[in-house]
Amino acid sequence: MDLLNRTAPRAFLGAGGFMAVLAFLYVPGMTAVPDAGELEPLQAASAEETRIEILGHGQTFGGVLNRVGVPAAEQQALLLAFQEHASPGRLRVGTEVALRSLRGADELRGIDVPVNADELVRLEREPMGWKSSIVKTPVWTDTVFVAGQIERDLWSAVVLNDDLEAMPRADRARVIDLMDRVFQWQLDFSRQIQAGDSYRLAFEREVRPDGTMRTGRILAAELINRDTPLYAIWFDLYDDGQGGYYDLAGESLRRAFLKAPLEFRRISSRFNPNRLHPIHNVRRAHIGVDYAAATGTPVMATADGTVTIRGVQGGYGNLVEIRHANGFMTRYAHLNGFASNVRQGSRVSQGTVIGYVGMTGTATGPHLHYELHKDGRPVDPLNVDIPAGDPIPADAMERWTAESDYRFALLDRAQRGPELRMARAAAAPSAETDEDELQ
Ligand SMILES: [Zn+2]
Repeated sequence: MDLLNRTAPRAFLGAGGFMAVLAFLYVPGMTAVPDAGELEPLQAASAEETRIEILGHGQTFGGVLNRVGVPAAEQQALLLAFQEHASPGRLRVGTEVALRSLRGADELRGIDVPVNADELVRLEREPMGWKSSIVKTPVWTDTVFVAGQIERDLWSAVVLNDDLEAMPRADRARVIDLMDRVFQWQLDFSRQIQAGDSYRLAFEREVRPDGTMRTGRILAAELINRDTPLYAIWFDLYDDGQGGYYDLAGESLRRAFLKAPLEFRRISSRFNPNRLHPIHNVRRAHIGVDYAAATGTPVMATADGTVTIRGVQGGYGNLVEIRHANGFMTRYAHLNGFASNVRQGSRVSQGTVIGYVGMTGTATGPHLHYELHKDGRPVDPLNVDIPAGDPIPADAMERWTAESDYRFALLDRAQRGPELRMARAAAAPSAETDEDELQ
């Protein structure tokens, strides 16, 4: 999750740095440290002009250089410099190549070539030739507040939420991923979220110039699941940009086991209205949990451990079995294939992809059969008490208190319809009636 490493201030610094580089390039003879109080000449930025060439079908970067009259020897130097960071043959149709030169001069001073949504290759003329570097596309950071109630399913309660109207639809779906990731140790979203649940979120995101979200991070979340509130407050304990989630008492949300071995959005039952009800997948004759998902869906190890079986095993088909600490064991069956780094005896960590959903062995359709055993007996993953990760240490308590108060208060800016909440509270005792009506 290195994408989440960039904190807001750093994102702004990144953009600031970008601007500073531009200014430096644009102002001929500008010293790195201008005299105090001296204003830069206003016309400085216009000393350079930029010409945009759009890569058409069948066109190459070299073709663009040719078209704008770059001498052949220089084309070679430019292509070589470009290749240090990206392949010129991989540029997409429609790529906007920005060519910069001094106003009134023919000679190119720099070229910017976007290579993906977040990066461009910058080519700059140096006394000895051309230098290339990767530049991050500037983003801005904002905080989004959203609240909603699950009436049909989580997907529609988030993706169709008016609070997120300004966000592209694909990004709204990513908000569900963010929630799933925050509560992955507490809830199996596919089996436990139900009608009447509600949520409030404050999340920070980096927004690209085109309005899409580069990264998102939940700062504070409230999820009321079956009338039980769950809270998650982000806190960067080690000040390394990673951070983690804690409840209001400062207890870590992290557990030794994930509740589910698949990402919620990959589980096909998400569109099944039946999922509003508690689904009793753990049947007497059946000692595991079945998740319907498309063939090829990545399957994650739910906890750190050692692989004890990787191979075909009767009705299980392709099976991975992992032994964990404290007498726990997990099985992942009917796999289509295994992740390449998973072998018998290999160590895997929580969340590592170990294989892919399939229908090998005794299976009528693609699904994952997942088992959790404790001391040799199968147990329901939803009903196992797993000790929490480390709480906030004493020496960070003061900072935690201040930051968590602030982040918790952000939730109040997520405007839940108060009448909805009241109605829910009043209707709570008749939750079963609601379910019956939906059947
Ligand atoms: Zn099964």
